[in-house]
Amino acid sequence: MSDGAPYPGGTEFGFELLTCRWAERAWPPTDEGDGVPVVARQLGTKRRRWDTIVVEADPEGLAARREFGARALDSDLLHVVRNAPAEWAWYRDALPDPGYPWRYVRAAVHRADARGVVETRRDGNRVQIRRVAPYPDWVNRLVAVENKPDLDASAARALGDQLRHDVDAGLADEVWVATAATGDTVEPALLEDVPVEVGVLTLSFGDRTTAEVAWYPSRLDPPSEGDGAAKRLEIAERAYGSGWRSYVETMRPDCRYFELRREGAALVPWCASKACHQTGAECAGSCPAFEPEPPSWRTRGWPVEGGPGKGISRLLERRRERRR
Ligand code: SF4
Repeated sequence: MSDGAPYPGGTEFGFELLTCRWAERAWPPTDEGDGVPVVARQLGTKRRRWDTIVVEADPEGLAARREFGARALDSDLLHVVRNAPAEWAWYRDALPDPGYPWRYVRAAVHRADARGVVETRRDGNRVQIRRVAPYPDWVNRLVAVENKPDLDASAARALGDQLRHDVDAGLADEVWVATAATGDTVEPALLEDVPVEVGVLTLSFGDRTTAEVAWYPSRLDPPSEGDGAAKRLEIAERAYGSGWRSYVETMRPDCRYFELRREGAALVPWCASKACHQTGAECAGSCPAFEPEPPSWRTRGWPVEGGPGKGISRLLERRRERRR
């Protein structure tokens, strides 16, 4: 590590990015995994946001999901896409009653058409739809990981209720807490405050991030139908659409001090002004040290596309695309 901390900059943000990168490369940590990992961060429900999400995807289903584009399908679009018929039909005949006014469905049908994820045509006043492809069953399992680099006894106590909620919410197939290895074994007493169903992973950072299982999680039993299953698919879709590198969209790569530094196998944001791995919250429009890239940088080989900041955004987008 560049600063002597057991993880980049000692920030939870840096730890989170390295956890995501490790998961992308090395998931699953046990032999219970079921598919290829699609990794995202900071997703969940209104009530609870998970630090890291791993969607274990069926490889063929994931390949078929590409037919529907790189962006996430929200719940309204999923309703249309999953039920769109193979042959032309009036959308009200083809789609199940949504339980809310049809005019919203009609708006979603038009949105889906504009995104190219269904086809539409008119038959007089009626809008007909047809699917472009069957929406695949691509999500095998959904795994939630809470990142707590400094998992001491008080952190474990503070986390206990949240983790209990994650287990009871019935959305994830598995729940983990990830922490930084300290060289000591994880204290059994500390584990007492973590619900017994939650796995504990310890990550070590060096040239390569590695992980060890300090406690094995239980397999949970999330719903396969109804609202819970729909919610799981929405989360998986958002994970697919955003990936974990989307942090750059809310940071300031257009700042002259914004860099990416290699930490093991991951590229992690670095602020050359503060000489640290900055957090997402501080690297924002309100940062007092922000300075735009000098215009002259934009003419050095980036005449049309913009300066190095744009190059960083494109690099991360290419990596994100490659993972899909
Ligand atoms: S100076 Fe501020 S805006 Fe610029 S890279 Fe550093 S934290 Fe981000």
